[in-house]
Amino acid sequence: MAAVLVIGAGIAGLGSALALSQRGHEVVVVERDTTSVPDSPDAAFEQWERRGAPQVHHSHAFLARLRNLLRDRAPDVLAHLHDAGASEVRFIDQPPVTLEDRSPRPGDEDLVALACRRTTFEWVLRRDTLAAGNVRLMEGSVERLLPDGDGHAGVPNVVGVGLAGGAELRADLVIDASGVRSPLPRWLAEMGAGPVAEKEKDTGIIYSSRFYRLLPDQQLPVQEGPVLGDLDYLKYAVFVGDNRTFSITFGLHAGDAELRQLLRPSPFTVVAQSLPGLRPWIQPTRCEPITGVEVMARLVNRRRRFVNGGHPVATGIFAVGDSAICTNPLYGRGCSLAMVHAYLLADVLEEHAHDPVRAALAFAAVTRDEIEPWYTASVAQDRQNRTGLDIPLGDDEEDEQPVDAQTMRSIMRDGLLPAAGTDPVVYRAFLRAFNLLDQPNAIMADAEVVGRVMVAWQTRHQRPPPAPLGPQRDEMLRILARSAAA
Ligand SMILES: Cc1cc2nc3c(=O)[nH]c(=O)nc-3n(C[C@H](O)[C@H](O)[C@H](O)COP(=O)(O)OP(=O)(O)OC[C@H]3O[C@@H](n4cnc5c(N)ncnc54)[C@H](O)[C@@H]3O)c2cc1C
Repeated sequence: MAAVLVIGAGIAGLGSALALSQRGHEVVVVERDTTSVPDSPDAAFEQWERRGAPQVHHSHAFLARLRNLLRDRAPDVLAHLHDAGASEVRFIDQPPVTLEDRSPRPGDEDLVALACRRTTFEWVLRRDTLAAGNVRLMEGSVERLLPDGDGHAGVPNVVGVGLAGGAELRADLVIDASGVRSPLPRWLAEMGAGPVAEKEKDTGIIYSSRFYRLLPDQQLPVQEGPVLGDLDYLKYAVFVGDNRTFSITFGLHAGDAELRQLLRPSPFTVVAQSLPGLRPWIQPTRCEPITGVEVMARLVNRRRRFVNGGHPVATGIFAVGDSAICTNPLYGRGCSLAMVHAYLLADVLEEHAHDPVRAALAFAAVTRDEIEPWYTASVAQDRQNRTGLDIPLGDDEEDEQPVDAQTMRSIMRDGLLPAAGTDPVVYRAFLRAFNLLDQPNAIMADAEVVGRVMVAWQTRHQRPPPAPLGPQRDEMLRILARSAAA
């Protein structure tokens, strides 16, 4: 069995440690954040200093792909998430009111996501991973990789890491799970390996979240409007949490200086109250805010490739999670992809235990097949979202669509979404793609689904326009100005 060193105790790091410990490897996880694990989900939410992963203070969706992976490969973790207050979101139990055929179909049991705070998810995952016995967590900040002299077949080989303060840790394998800010390409360059092929696309959005707790005797509202919506200038969503919490998130365009005022608590509330889908949630008689407005900007889609000309840039080192592939948080995919990636790595290492070059190539191939398509899809979705707005479009090959972005956007909005609300086949195809259960191009590759979507699109002018989800931008700015003056 190998001695494995994991850099970072986020989702990808803990997921890797869990998956490898299940196969008997000895794992050391090195984490830069020095705070110990709090003793309850609420304490984790309130006290856990996670400066290395500031997104833990934002709303998180845990998609069916992640829930199913836990069900199949780490059922104890899933059970402990439920014990900690996480609930299941059974999409098929909450179909749109417009869906008449509600009969069950094969595969419905997979359409279940998890609802909890990110701190709760990570709290359970960390406790369960460390309980495995062959996983040890140590505090430390990794600053460099340690190469061995000769490498494997001419490829540089990593045999450990150097920590801030000078200590060195040796291992058979190093896994970089240090997140979106991982400096892995630089570390590799410093030991003479690389270059790493990297593409990065700014999402152009600012993400803002606020958490609430239900008052005693109050319940979550019976939902009347959509809890997830896109007003073009503003995206919004409600996320059910654990232990009587929920959160509201807005995504706005980074360049929208006038709307940035909603990043403060009072205007945030005014905007939420102006949206029919959110209004019932934030009634002062129902809940109280338990945080201010958390804000994150400079969010990117990014992919890194670690193979050049058919050769790995290095052996003995693997990038997992956001360090390798990072996607726009609006789509709620990062934790699911990080966990799937971790288990894919464990599978590859089992198959190629004694051949470092083959292991590196196999992991690069499976990353490209299973994870990277979601980077490409996120970039394409961002492009559709920007169409029609005064925001420049990118122009590289991954943005290319079989039809232009304007038409694609119309097909999604005026074909796919209405069909998903009335047609049980399209509804399920949409949910499967949303939850990462099928590859991103699966909807457009399924002739039956495409046919049904195109019928809905071609008859779009025969339907009454949908009720507006909220005020237009100008009206929203007037609402904010009136409330500031009051
Ligand atoms: C605003 C926002 C909202 C999001 N919402 C969702 C969502 O709804 N659903 C979803 O699935 N995903 C969401 N994501 C994405 C998700 O949070 C990430 O994809 C996920 O955290 C990636 O896990 P990771 O382990 O790769 O990185 P992280 O979770 O960021 O963990 C990296 C860890 O490495 C540590 N570290 C960094 N450098 C070092 C070092 N040199 N030495 C030692 N340790 C180090 C850090 O302290 C940290 O603990 C969101 C992201 C953002 C920014």
